[in-house]
Amino acid sequence: MKVAILGSTGSIGRTALQLCKSRAHEVRALACNSNVELIIQQYYEFKPSVLAVEDEYAYLQVKSKLASEDVCIYGKGGAELIAQANDYDVILNAIVGIAGLRPALKAALSKKRLAIANKESLVVFGETIISIAKEHGTELIPVDSEHSAIFQCLQGENSSHLQSVILTASGGPLREMSRKYRASVKAEQALKHPNWSMGKKISIDSATLMNKGLEFIEAMRLFDLSADKIEVVIHPESIIHSAVSFVDGSVIAQMAVPDMTLPIQYAFDYPKRMLLDSGINSKLDFFSGLNLSFFKPDYEGFPCLNLAKEAVRMGGIYPCVLNAANELAVSLFLENKIGFYGISDLVQRALEKNYSYDHNSIDDVISCHNEVIASLESSLIL
Ligand code: NAD
Ligand code: MG
Repeated sequence: MKVAILGSTGSIGRTALQLCKSRAHEVRALACNSNVELIIQQYYEFKPSVLAVEDEYAYLQVKSKLASEDVCIYGKGGAELIAQANDYDVILNAIVGIAGLRPALKAALSKKRLAIANKESLVVFGETIISIAKEHGTELIPVDSEHSAIFQCLQGENSSHLQSVILTASGGPLREMSRKYRASVKAEQALKHPNWSMGKKISIDSATLMNKGLEFIEAMRLFDLSADKIEVVIHPESIIHSAVSFVDGSVIAQMAVPDMTLPIQYAFDYPKRMLLDSGINSKLDFFSGLNLSFFKPDYEGFPCLNLAKEAVRMGGIYPCVLNAANELAVSLFLENKIGFYGISDLVQRALEKNYSYDHNSIDDVISCHNEVIASLESSLIL
């Protein structure tokens, strides 16, 4: 299998490369932002014919370090060029944030398979990406574990028999804290996810439950669901990755040890199921303390979940406004410039403002994204 990986130096990208190694997939192209050392290491290990390094300074360094190698190296916008080239069987979009949007749109035109981990592009422009993929015969397979679970539960089912989707959430590392204590946590504590090891942005999103808010919108887009068909359930053990309930009362759930290798592999090999070689024990042991628990989300303690629901209710460009404000807020929180509830405050403030962008083109979405960020930044005294 010929594979291209966008975001190869990140958490999902590295897991995907591990999978490529164990399955001897041919890695054709890699893209990253600025991790010079790692992309060079990945180059020597996998020998792709194309690399893309977004950050200008990092690009120049990679170019000079690989000057004697027979490899094409792109700078800014290179991930999009890789997505467009389509000399692969599967492209994995594991870029974080809005930066994954243009490559996602290009990959949707590829007529190949797009394994999509970049949830932000589906949140801000999912309807168009999905309809373009359908129109061009590009197979779009979710990698996000919840959406992979739903996709798996729907195999062989008639979508008219679906009653609702149960989107599970671990609740993150701050779930059991008092609100007062949570209000004062620093990035370091919020980054400590109990069940998953992930990139910084999604780790903070998991701590605020914005991750579940984004996934709520992602599920609406991927499975063409209205908001009332999706129920968020807190399931701290992260064993049930999501479930689907049918009109006859049956609930089909997908369970597995929490490890992103499985959803990545499933997206690559679908409809086949292959032996999983992830380096951890992937067998679910039912007899060693497998206690599954379920709770209602604490909407007051974690306002981001309702803000995401509000953004879809508002419709149009507002999921993009939500995402932009959240991207800025998470980066400010990571720099210790705002507190935990500063994140939801900023997002709420952005949703209260009138943004009159259409939602027809990628340029509308990116202009709106930039305006939301500029407007919030100018209002902040840090
Ligand atoms: P990460 O921060 O670990 O990695 C992000 C990758 O994107 C890096 O390789 C970085 O170099 C690259 N990147 C950033 N900006 C770029 C740009 N402009 N051009 C090219 N590359 C760029 O993030 P992650 O945790 O691997 O998450 C990636 C995506 O997958 C996110 O959208 C996240 O929500 C989603 N996701 C992650 C997980 C997980 O377990 N980590 C699970 C489900 C979904
Ligand atoms: Mg997820």
